[in-house]
Amino acid sequence: MNFTDNQLKAINHKEGNLKIVACAGSGKTTVMAERIAKLVSEGADRDKIVAFTYTDKAADSLKFNIREKLEKWSPDEPHLGGMYIGTIHSFAFKRLRDIIPKYRSYEVLDEVKRIIWVHKYKGEIGLDSIRKDKLLIDSIKRFLNTVDIIRDNQIPAERLNAIPDFMEVYENYLNILEREKYLDFSGILHKLVSVLESNSTLLTDLKESIDYLVVDEYQDVNKIQEKLIYLMAGENGNLCVVGDDDQSIFEFQGADVNNILQFENKYCNVTTVKLEENFRCPEEVIEASRDLVKRNRNRITKRMVAGNIGDEINKSDSGDLYKVEFDNQKEESSFIIDKINDLRGCEYKDEDVLRGLDYGDMAIIVRSRLSAQHIVNALREQQIPFTFKGTGGLFERPEIKFIQAIFYYIADYSFSREEPPVDLNHLRNSFESLDINHLEWGQLSQQFEELKSYIKSITPSNPIAPQRRTFLQEFYYQLMGILEVDSDHYSEDLLYDFGRFSKLVAEFESIHGWINYGSFIQFVTFLAIYAQNKTDEGGIDDPRNTNSVNVLTIHQAKGLEFPLVFIPDVSTGRVPSRNRNRKPKTHFEEGIIDLDSFCSGDEGERRLFYVATTRTKKFLFMARAKDNGGKNLVSRSKYYTEFDHEIMEYNNKPDPTSRNKIEPQCKPNMELMPTSFTDIRHYIECPYRYRLQQMMGFSPVINLAYGYGLQVHNLLNYIHKTYGGEPPSLKEIESLVESDFFLRFTRGEPLENMKRKCKEIISNYIEEYNDQFELKLETEKPFEFPLEGALISGEIDLIQKIDPSSQEIKNVSIIDFKTEKEDYENFPLLRMQLRLYAIAGSKSLGLNPLDAGVHFLTNNVRRNVSVNPDKLDETRGQVADAITNIKRGNFIATPNHDKCKNCDVRYVCSNGKCCNGC
Ligand code: SF4
Repeated sequence: MNFTDNQLKAINHKEGNLKIVACAGSGKTTVMAERIAKLVSEGADRDKIVAFTYTDKAADSLKFNIREKLEKWSPDEPHLGGMYIGTIHSFAFKRLRDIIPKYRSYEVLDEVKRIIWVHKYKGEIGLDSIRKDKLLIDSIKRFLNTVDIIRDNQIPAERLNAIPDFMEVYENYLNILEREKYLDFSGILHKLVSVLESNSTLLTDLKESIDYLVVDEYQDVNKIQEKLIYLMAGENGNLCVVGDDDQSIFEFQGADVNNILQFENKYCNVTTVKLEENFRCPEEVIEASRDLVKRNRNRITKRMVAGNIGDEINKSDSGDLYKVEFDNQKEESSFIIDKINDLRGCEYKDEDVLRGLDYGDMAIIVRSRLSAQHIVNALREQQIPFTFKGTGGLFERPEIKFIQAIFYYIADYSFSREEPPVDLNHLRNSFESLDINHLEWGQLSQQFEELKSYIKSITPSNPIAPQRRTFLQEFYYQLMGILEVDSDHYSEDLLYDFGRFSKLVAEFESIHGWINYGSFIQFVTFLAIYAQNKTDEGGIDDPRNTNSVNVLTIHQAKGLEFPLVFIPDVSTGRVPSRNRNRKPKTHFEEGIIDLDSFCSGDEGERRLFYVATTRTKKFLFMARAKDNGGKNLVSRSKYYTEFDHEIMEYNNKPDPTSRNKIEPQCKPNMELMPTSFTDIRHYIECPYRYRLQQMMGFSPVINLAYGYGLQVHNLLNYIHKTYGGEPPSLKEIESLVESDFFLRFTRGEPLENMKRKCKEIISNYIEEYNDQFELKLETEKPFEFPLEGALISGEIDLIQKIDPSSQEIKNVSIIDFKTEKEDYENFPLLRMQLRLYAIAGSKSLGLNPLDAGVHFLTNNVRRNVSVNPDKLDETRGQVADAITNIKRGNFIATPNHDKCKNCDVRYVCSNGKCCNGC
């Protein structure tokens, strides 16, 4: 790639703070990757480079790019080593766990789990005492909004005195989170910042561990994130921020565009580089987008021009850009369907490769879901494949609705206030409307009645008596068994949907553990108030389903690009959104915080529209219907007028340019398939099980000792990390296990037994291996390396030096700890794991592993694994074969009695059903 002068200026920047203002399509990821790779080639320590991205997907893309650039800059060692590239939240959580051992037992609540958690503890938290909303889900959301805003903005305690009732509930929330060992996202950053602000040694350690800090999408950073960045980098560090104020679209999450606007005022010695050339969009789209966003006042001025691709500039042909008004939505969706059909197979030159456009090249980008529904219906009618994420499509499937109705029947729940609770008649009607011919209603109804009386009999009075424990996933699989769910009786699509439902059950179960009738009702309520509107169909994230039209919101489209983009419903009330000035619902009183800053407002909405138009690489079709389904006719959005160019077609007339058609061919998916040794192992053990679990989402039932192995690992890793040549005394081990050993679903005597066992095996290990502490080089070392189109990631428990006196620290030994007893039958697979880790040691970490061992903690024995080149080649071949077969879709079941009888997903596998209950 030929870099522009400004790109080179950013790439060559070494010391001091750097602000890169990167317009849409300006190649910022390539520039960031090139700079990091060049820094490494000039001697920067990989372990001291940190790059924050907005999402995990963006992190994967940046890592992929850095690896590619390292091939050029450091061909002998093109590995990422110990660089951290990922989200700021993951970084902060890892850091917290490293410095405070108790956080190793904590779990992070994502959005769904936090809703389930608050719902579970709402009584103890006292949520009802401050409830302002009719709907429970609104009340939970209002509470959580307030919690996040307090912490993200570090609102001082004295200002919060104005809302004493809320503060009491908030304190309860924090105390119960702490008691139950959970953290939420805003809590992670808040805790790390508090720890660093109050402990100068920890802050100095953190600062000294980072030589270069890069922050992507800096315009979307909120106050607490900026605080952490500032603490890490200081005013005079090597901080590089990359962003575009014109693409700041996350105000509702607290993003503060002033961070990028005012960067020079806060940090010293700042070099500013503007990447103003857009290499993605046609010149005409760039000009129209620039004229549109220039109307915003509070922004950095920039040129925004088309960049040369080779010797050429990407220019529109007549008919590439349309802006058309229709009387109604039917006409609007027909226009979109016609364009999809007309342009599918149209010749398109993509990075010098000529191919026919296909569905996966097309995107329908909307401000909100409401604007897409009529188009989605038309796509469905025309049988055009599409994906529409975040739409709650799962519960539109009649078979899933039927499962929901069975849960409602058991809980005596109704679908609405006006309807009576679901009864057997309701279930029978649902059942008869389905295409399930292999089941007979009489027998089914009896089984449903039995399930109902069984669930009703589980009371919380003796919740830890083993005979009373029922796990929801177990119950769900029982139901799957009754409905004879397997590939002989249901289509693949439906299996994906049943698998997605199993994931929902797993999310609920991860908070509730085993159930009683009360928590069963909570699950049903969770379905009703949240899951049924938020859960997508199964299979939507399956990377093999890439060739479908992408229907997505502008927020989801950020960072993406498509040869063909439709922006429908460009009418008043939709863009800009009529909610643009609506403040988030909170418990704040006037004067505590300015909630206007969380609203997109007119300028924010214009930025959103700018993000939408700049996703296109060639075709852009903007449309609107005067009658868009509301009570009244709607007028044009002001952006419909503001976005304009003389080349645009304004009428729905045929494409004026004749276009060659060739075989449609979607762009090959260059993304590396993320995988791990555990995934590969599952595939090798039974390819069909891999498919059911990894791809469809059928989840295992929680084991009573859930988390035991992880706890032992965590404590041992902490000991390795914290204690140098001198291992801890027995007393120290006792007190560490006593304070930090935690099993989420085990209480009483079983918990005490496991604690005792943990103390014993750690003490035995240290007694026998204490002389090896001085050999420690790294613990919990994460790795990632590409192989056969997959990205294999994992974490090595312990890396030891072979010779402590040698200066050559590349010669190492790799050790993996197992809490289970030594098992000869499994040993070939464990050998494969260690050999794969040895490959990772050299490919990802630049080490030279000379030997490896599996350490069975229960027996306290270490078994050596040979890692000579022939053995490593053999493993590489086996793993590569497994990856190739996964990618080719080879998922043949390999049943055998011993394997199937313990298989977590035997209930939904026709091959394993003979082993049910064996
Ligand atoms: S039951 Fe047996 S054949 Fe079926 S997925 Fe499990 S291991 Fe494979």
